[in-house]
Amino acid sequence: MVRMAAYTPMIQQYLQVKAEYQDAFLFFRLGDFYEMFFEDAIKASQELEITLTSRDGGGEERIPMCGVPYHSATAYIEQLVGKGYKVAICEQMEDPKLAKGVIKREVIQLITPGTMMEGKSLSEKENHYIASIAAIPNGGFALAYIDLSTGESRATVLDGPFEETFNELNSIGAKEAVVDPDFPEDFCKLMKNSGNITISYETDTTEKEDFTKLLAGAGTENLRLSVTRLLNYLYRTQKRSLDHLQPVEVYEVRQYLKIDYYSKRNLELTETIRAQGKKGSLLWLLDETMTAMGARLLKQWIDRPLLKREKIEARLAMVETFLNHYFERQDIRERLKEVYDLERLAGRVAFGNVNARDLIQLKCSLQQVPGIRALIESLGNAESEKLASLLDPCEELTDLLERAIADNPPVSVKEGGMIRDGYDEELDRYRDASKNGKQWIASLEQEERERTGIKSLKVGYNRVFGYYIEVTKANLHLLEEGRYERKQTLANAERFITPELKEKEALILQAEERIIDLEYELFTEIRGHVKEFIPRLQSLAKAVSMIDVLQSFATVSENRHYTKPVFREDGVLKITDGRHPVVEKVLDSQSYVPNDCLMDGRREILLITGPNMSGKSTYMRQIALTVILAQMGCFVPADEAELPIFDQIFTRIGAADDLISGQSTFMVEMLEAKNAIAHATKNSLILFDEIGRGTSTYDGMALAQAMIEYIHDKIGAKTLFSTHYHELTALSEELDKLQNIHVSAMEQNGRVVFLHKIKEGPADKSYGIHVAQLAGLPDGVIKRAEKILHEFENHDGGEKQLPARETAAAHEAPAQLSFFEEPEEIRHKEPVLKERKVIQQIKELDLLE
Ligand code: ADP
Repeated sequence: MVRMAAYTPMIQQYLQVKAEYQDAFLFFRLGDFYEMFFEDAIKASQELEITLTSRDGGGEERIPMCGVPYHSATAYIEQLVGKGYKVAICEQMEDPKLAKGVIKREVIQLITPGTMMEGKSLSEKENHYIASIAAIPNGGFALAYIDLSTGESRATVLDGPFEETFNELNSIGAKEAVVDPDFPEDFCKLMKNSGNITISYETDTTEKEDFTKLLAGAGTENLRLSVTRLLNYLYRTQKRSLDHLQPVEVYEVRQYLKIDYYSKRNLELTETIRAQGKKGSLLWLLDETMTAMGARLLKQWIDRPLLKREKIEARLAMVETFLNHYFERQDIRERLKEVYDLERLAGRVAFGNVNARDLIQLKCSLQQVPGIRALIESLGNAESEKLASLLDPCEELTDLLERAIADNPPVSVKEGGMIRDGYDEELDRYRDASKNGKQWIASLEQEERERTGIKSLKVGYNRVFGYYIEVTKANLHLLEEGRYERKQTLANAERFITPELKEKEALILQAEERIIDLEYELFTEIRGHVKEFIPRLQSLAKAVSMIDVLQSFATVSENRHYTKPVFREDGVLKITDGRHPVVEKVLDSQSYVPNDCLMDGRREILLITGPNMSGKSTYMRQIALTVILAQMGCFVPADEAELPIFDQIFTRIGAADDLISGQSTFMVEMLEAKNAIAHATKNSLILFDEIGRGTSTYDGMALAQAMIEYIHDKIGAKTLFSTHYHELTALSEELDKLQNIHVSAMEQNGRVVFLHKIKEGPADKSYGIHVAQLAGLPDGVIKRAEKILHEFENHDGGEKQLPARETAAAHEAPAQLSFFEEPEEIRHKEPVLKERKVIQQIKELDLLE
């Protein structure tokens, strides 16, 4: 405080504001710049790579300073927010010319990763959530989240450890989490470090009047608390109308097919593991949506496949209807293309930052609705009727926009040119006045020429002198005395005005000024009307996005020849000629080998053996993806599919990132396995791909066997278990619900040819050695391996023992054998996969095989 007194009043003001925004960069408006001082300046200059300077602030030392021009601030703000920082925008609240002393300044908005409303980081095809979490005293967490750009808000209670909540945060892709300052530090760290989630604190949990409508559906106290905290945070930081926020929709994770975040990643539902991009994911495959709203809903549906049979079947019925009505669907697609992002638009209307162009887009979107509605109605079944009834064309609004907004309005709302003629009488009068004035001036040139006889006489306009009559010096003598007032002299001409011209000019200027003001007033009024339509626009947006996703399902199902799944209550899974949807698309359908799958009471666990690269993992994934697609309400890549409805899917699939991340692969493997074993029920699907390979053979094999037995005896979940421990295939003798299957391969001219065909029974053991041979391992190694294998084969049951060592060299660590050439079968594969497979292969070239 003592030091503060030494600073100039402005710096003192800065410090006062900054004290309230400790965790944000304070963008302090100074004329045409946003300036940052002290620590903020040092950090911002590094993060934004801008020059750090300093200024005298009255204190002993100069104050570090850096700044960005206000007109290009958005890009800098985006950059900082994109890195997880917050930016407080502090504006000048009065005209500097009129201010006495220090200009009044206030923070008008705190921009944070979860509240960013526009910019590059805000992908139109994804929701952008800010969440809040409250720990429930008796265990579990209340999670609420809002997409500020669309106004969508949801809340749920998650029992169990924080891990589950963290999973949910990850799968919705939350950017920011608002918590109580008492929220456990460990959890905050986890969110920050592993989830890249910015943590914000909010203590205010009082329910304001504005919240009543939004909280209507939030039953329990804990949920209300979480939503209220979030709302208070949003109101406090955004400091503006949030009229577009929709009543919170409470859901239970149990309503949906549960797939934990790691499994979602492993199955590459919305992004691929390696590239972290959409391409190659299920989302990428399924996205034939025509609108941004549809794309966002599609992602939500992928994240949350359903459990209720009627709901799933309702979606499937609609997909089928779309499939059977090709032309109507094409027509609907064309029309959807013209529909603008109504949800985000509603958000911007609430925020008060739409312009006339947005309203034109809104108009065009609304104009499509009656057509879409008629088409949907013409499909004539119960589902389409329901959807059609949800398509509210908001006629009054369409009518208003058609009457009010001009066709090609400017971006700015302060230049006029937005309102259509005939909409407002007063405006029309001014426009007439301005037009008449201009016409009068336009005809003046001709009149004056006639009056004076000067052919070269001109009427012109310039900004300084306004309208003038220009006469060359040679003709000056022809002008009538006293009628013209000299205004400006040029080299060889003089410019004049007349009282009449001045008068008309004043009229025109006045009219134009009035026009601009009046247009702005009218526009604001119209914007106010649009605001009243926000809830209706939001329901319309929901209906449109649903139609869009369903038509997208139909389009994909048609293009890729999918079939409608049939659900069974007896737990039997029967897929005929099933395919992996993404691999099939990437490979082109011709070369993909379809496979059947049968799982029933006698085949609860399928133990899959077969050489590397034969297609085990692809097969397992294809079953999981088929189940997910079916429960989303989409057709599935198969000729026929009869499926039970699964409650959860668990996976442990060797992921590429295990190899690069620092985490112990084996630990991750065990954690994921534990998760499955602890939570699976007999209605779950488990995929274990080569479990146990992250540790020594015996450890791994023992663990794998124990897990299989446990699932078999205690859980009864449908399980696909791939392994390269051939010894495990003997389990089929003891476990009556376990069956061996294998992926076939054959040898042709000394090469292993992968047939990718699933067959009954265990695989032939020796393929591993063949592959190793093809890979170019030294003959000695191959021979020795064959011998060891032979010894194993002759070893009947009993305890497994290593055959006696011949030489130490025979057991050299396989990981060192990285010098071999890749076999043909691997070389033609996609490079990433290839690299991954080669690494995997090296790891797995277990000489004991
Ligand atoms: P594994 O798990 O047995 O090592 P993958 O499932 O990873 O083998 O399959 C290896 C490659 O083989 C895949 O990348 C894919 O290109 C190809 N593949 C797998 N299954 C099929 C199939 N059914 N038809 C055609 N190609 C397949």
